[in-house]
Amino acid sequence: MTPTPLLPNFLAGRWQDGTGHGATLLDPVLGTPLVRVSSAGLDLAEGFAFAREQGGAALRALTYQQRAALLGDIVKVLQANRDAYYAIATANCGTTTKDSAVDIDGAIFTLGYYAKQGEALGDAKLLLDGERIRMAKDPVFQTQHILSPTRGVALFINAFNFPSWGLWEKAAPALLSGVPVIIKPATATAWLTQRMVKDVVDAGILPAGALSVVCGSSAGLMDQLGPFDVVSFTGSAETARIIRSHPAVAQRSVRCNIEADSLNSALLDPAAAAGDEAFNLLVSEVVREMTVKSGQKCTAIRRIFVPRALYDATAQAIAAKLGKTTVGNPRNETTRMGALVSREQFDSVLAGIAHLKTEAEVLFDGSSAALVDADPAVAACVAPVLLGHRQPAQAKVLHEVEVFGPVATLMAFDSLEQALELIRRGEGSLVASVYSSDPAFIALAAAELGSSHGRVHAISPDVAAVQSGHGNVMPMSLHGGPGRAGGGEELGGLRALGFYHRRSALQGSTAALDVLAASGTPFKP
Ligand code: NAP
Repeated sequence: MTPTPLLPNFLAGRWQDGTGHGATLLDPVLGTPLVRVSSAGLDLAEGFAFAREQGGAALRALTYQQRAALLGDIVKVLQANRDAYYAIATANCGTTTKDSAVDIDGAIFTLGYYAKQGEALGDAKLLLDGERIRMAKDPVFQTQHILSPTRGVALFINAFNFPSWGLWEKAAPALLSGVPVIIKPATATAWLTQRMVKDVVDAGILPAGALSVVCGSSAGLMDQLGPFDVVSFTGSAETARIIRSHPAVAQRSVRCNIEADSLNSALLDPAAAAGDEAFNLLVSEVVREMTVKSGQKCTAIRRIFVPRALYDATAQAIAAKLGKTTVGNPRNETTRMGALVSREQFDSVLAGIAHLKTEAEVLFDGSSAALVDADPAVAACVAPVLLGHRQPAQAKVLHEVEVFGPVATLMAFDSLEQALELIRRGEGSLVASVYSSDPAFIALAAAELGSSHGRVHAISPDVAAVQSGHGNVMPMSLHGGPGRAGGGEELGGLRALGFYHRRSALQGSTAALDVLAASGTPFKP
């Protein structure tokens, strides 16, 4: 039998094998071993210093436009290797081609977006934040706020569900800002991340130290961080707590962005009727959100709020569509929904459903249908489950537990005020979507939900054909959410660059400010 290959890490400008056996990555449908990863024995201090000193200096020597061109070159390399990425995603993530596209093509699109945005920043090396402000009666003494790239590394600790997009949606604004990246992908799906980094490194696009990858255990990574470094974490609320309380963040003021779990909502206009356009749009979107990537999206709809009179009609309409979702091996063309990423997630999702069921009724459960080309004793495949609650104000678990799979709960409301209050019981979410034909209702809901959500996605009949999807994170729009969602902010166009820059104020003569301004470009996110 051939041994399972070990993926090397790329650190300190060279490929390095971790020691020991490491962790074995599996095919979540077939259960077969694919590759191994290990970060044991790496000299992390050397790797972080190399990235900070060599990678950082080389990137900062370039202009925004030059760095944007590097992003454009990365796009070309990733595009040239797309087939390999799809093959890895099928094998290691258990996703259908359509679901792999969300991760792979979503990443390429995001990189391309930042390449274009960066090009427009021209040959500047810093960003001018706002106008000059007079600080004395005599206008000769003024202040100008500037944003300069931080002189540290950006450490990314990522979740298992987006091994491609999760890397590049963070790396694009970091590299454009002039900050070197060290990516630590989630172990279960690290292969795709490692392969993409390998392709970019092999193509010789980036300066030495600009992009590193550490696969396997996260042990020791946070310890390397110093005052000018940043860490961007995506994952569970539990790990987020560990990151936040780490001395690097708590004592050394390492800037920290957290994207954690979220109980995202969908809200139907109380004026909607069964079968009207808003109703149908909600039903379609809920089904899409529950099944895309088998519900393993931090932005997926988990709670669906409909007027009490429409509860049964909504349950039937969603159930009818979910009943057509074939689940199983993504290699079979008839499969609509693939696997979860691992058997551990399979166990966790089943336990989560059981937990939700202690409060909710079951409105649809697809688990009686046979899996397509997959052994239920081996494959991490879970069929969609729609739960429901007619008195959600009395529920607790349903507003607290995120089940990271094809699961959502329908909830009845009696008034808009009650619905908004129940939505806020998620304690801060990434996204809420509202379904209505009435612009005034949408504006009201957006204003009411804005302070507890990173995004409010409004689906009305006039945008139905072009809207980007409740759960799709687009680079021009904010990703993140307050409270339980982690309190972080990513993307949002050039706003993303703010995390990788430090703001300071030059207080000085107009002449000095003129010289400074010549090397900067106005920051207009
Ligand atoms: P997780 O268990 O928290 O793992 C996330 C990452 O943290 C992995 O790379 C993991 O490495 C690493 N990690 C684990 N323990 C650590 C520690 N003590 N110190 C430093 N790093 C550590 O989360 P997950 O299960 O992969 O992801 C699912 C969760 O992520 C869901 O709750 C979902 O809502 C959330 N999520 C949020 C977003 C968002 O943008 N808001 C996006 C996607 C997912 P190992 O894999 O090696 O353990």
